[in-house]
Amino acid sequence: MAKTFKNFIGGEWVAPTTDAYFENRNPADTSDLIGRFPDSDRRDVEAAVRSAKRGFAAWSRTPAPVRGDVLRRVGHLLVERKAAIADAMTREMGKVLAETGGDVQEGIDTAFYAATEGRRLFGHVVPSELRSKWAMSYRRPIGVVGLITPFNFPMAIPTWKMFPALVCGNAVIIKPSEDVPHTVHLLVEILLEAGLPPEVIQLVHGRGETVGKAIVEHPEVPVISFTGSTETGSLIGETCGRMHKRLSLEMGGKNAMIVMDDADLDLALEGILWGAFGTTGQRCTATSRLVLHRKIHDRFLRRLGDAAEGLRLGDGRQDKTDVGPLIHEASRDKVERYVEIGQEEGADLMLGGKAPGGRLADGWFYRPTIFAGVRPRSRLEQEEIFGPVLSVIRVSSFDEAVKVNNGVRYGLSSSIYTGNVDLAFSAMQDLDNGITYVNAPTIGAEAHLPFGGVKATGNGHREGGWEVYDFYSETKVCYVDYSGKLQRAQIDAASP
Ligand code: NAD
Repeated sequence: MAKTFKNFIGGEWVAPTTDAYFENRNPADTSDLIGRFPDSDRRDVEAAVRSAKRGFAAWSRTPAPVRGDVLRRVGHLLVERKAAIADAMTREMGKVLAETGGDVQEGIDTAFYAATEGRRLFGHVVPSELRSKWAMSYRRPIGVVGLITPFNFPMAIPTWKMFPALVCGNAVIIKPSEDVPHTVHLLVEILLEAGLPPEVIQLVHGRGETVGKAIVEHPEVPVISFTGSTETGSLIGETCGRMHKRLSLEMGGKNAMIVMDDADLDLALEGILWGAFGTTGQRCTATSRLVLHRKIHDRFLRRLGDAAEGLRLGDGRQDKTDVGPLIHEASRDKVERYVEIGQEEGADLMLGGKAPGGRLADGWFYRPTIFAGVRPRSRLEQEEIFGPVLSVIRVSSFDEAVKVNNGVRYGLSSSIYTGNVDLAFSAMQDLDNGITYVNAPTIGAEAHLPFGGVKATGNGHREGGWEVYDFYSETKVCYVDYSGKLQRAQIDAASP
């Protein structure tokens, strides 16, 4: 009998007001029921906000280094449980254990970074233009922060958002993706064990259109951080704009890897297999376009086809598996639709293009798929598919490659393989993305650097690194005049 899980609201584990639940099943074997999770509604969000406000009142006055200490303990607990969490994550999300282990590791790195940041939430003291006057800024907590997260990084993305928000002194309400609710359940257990005051964290499971929407629309949640599709992010953006909320959006991508004629092709081959088919192509930074210089095009493509054909599909918890399943049926349907679109557009389906049969028919598997001869501006080349489908585009020059890379509405990550230092630096300058890799695929962000994209991928904020701490805190400026007289800025500036 599968377990029935609860929300964490008001400092305790509680059933949803609706008394309704949704199922969480293993995408590699849909007969494996992981558990039933609360199908909550607006009333649960109301209760969560009331509780989070109480949590905020005390937490915001807890010294930041003490808040950081809680996160250090969280980091240690994550280290202890890394293998168990990775296993649970693979069971609900599908990607292979090496990747879910990496996903937990990102949470660990973020926890330890946030812990030390508790001692470094710097403000500034700057010279005043007036005598006997100090001018300074410091960071204040903001309030209740609403976090809405996607399915593909079940631990890393919630922790990227949650840990900085907590160190900055905010209370958090999180609604994880309904496809991967178990991982965040495990995370909240760890937060509580590490000594986070219970009302500082609220976990409300449920659907985006009910629970997510209710969080976004709640007038007492002034900060929203969202990662997910550009379509959902745009809806959230409209509401937050109307309500003057602080909003961070991390959305879709259509990332390209450029391989120039002077590249190390062995390295590029390893990179494209990992970038395009790792996480079954379901990373926001997945390499979904391969831009090949014509001089190495045919040679490289032949090698790529052979290597991709050798990738082993299967349950991500088994050692030999290279590629796990897609997250659910709708996702596989979408991949199938794009394979049809590609063929209708005249691209050359050189590998894959179908779901495997046999024992893999019990999961949402799809074979690594490669289209050659993809035309820039075609739908296959422009739209985010979020599956193991790689579009190959042939170019004749670096300038043409840059044009192809920049010719989509997204701008998350890009990559170039070249031995030419001039081209490498030109690429860093000219590729219109938030992240560019040289001689590495389009994935591989490190937790202590800012992460995010431009154009339809983001709205100017960054996760990770030092920048995210600005998002979760309000800058307050204070002036102290100890001259004993009225001094008027811009009017009474002292002469030298
Ligand atoms: P999604 O947009 O379907 O869902 C994301 C979250 O939003 C889920 O928790 C969902 O329940 C919630 N949601 C759905 N409708 C909502 C609404 N109307 N109001 C409030 N919340 C709502 O995305 P997904 O399928 O889980 O994830 C895949 C997408 O995420 C891809 O587009 C991918 O590129 C993107 N992504 C981006 C990044 C990044 O950092 N740029 C990272 C990971 C994933």
